[in-house]
Amino acid sequence: MKRKVVRYETHMNLLCDDGPVFTKMPVYAKTSEEKLIERMVRRCMNHLKCKDYELGIKKHHVTEAVSCTKVVNKGWCSVATYGGKDVIQINLAYWQHGKSGWHKEYDAFDKCPVIGGRYTKSLEEDLWMSVSHEVAHHVQHKFGPRCRWLKKTWRKPHGQGFKTIYAILRSKIVNPILDQGTDS
Ligand SMILES: [Zn+2]
Repeated sequence: MKRKVVRYETHMNLLCDDGPVFTKMPVYAKTSEEKLIERMVRRCMNHLKCKDYELGIKKHHVTEAVSCTKVVNKGWCSVATYGGKDVIQINLAYWQHGKSGWHKEYDAFDKCPVIGGRYTKSLEEDLWMSVSHEVAHHVQHKFGPRCRWLKKTWRKPHGQGFKTIYAILRSKIVNPILDQGTDS
């Protein structure tokens, strides 16, 4: 896919023995999928700013989450979608993306009516599921250690801490959007 270059940025590379080497790197225009995913990350993070959740998420954390969001397109790789303290990565080629049918969740809670799998019928609906899941991972790792109610549970990848954050995002944002979709 040919992508539009919006500008060039100069990067300093210190790998050379003779001193820094400067290279010009193209900055590409965002694709519609990237814009959509960034909007989803922003919406999820903005919701979690609510003081009642005691997560300590501020406006600048929302910006940080959006800027650490990476959209990749890696076929033949089933796990390139993940979320961590400093990265939220969504793989457009993930097998569950853009395939209508049951969007499966993690085995242990796939059948849960709140955070479990759902029938989806568009890439956008699949992305709501994946983005909110990865945002929950990002939040557990970045805010868990300092959060009163997450202190004991944030470490386990799909443990209670993760599940509670994900349940907030699913019940308040994602599930209502998916419910609307089924009415039309
Ligand atoms: Zn996960």
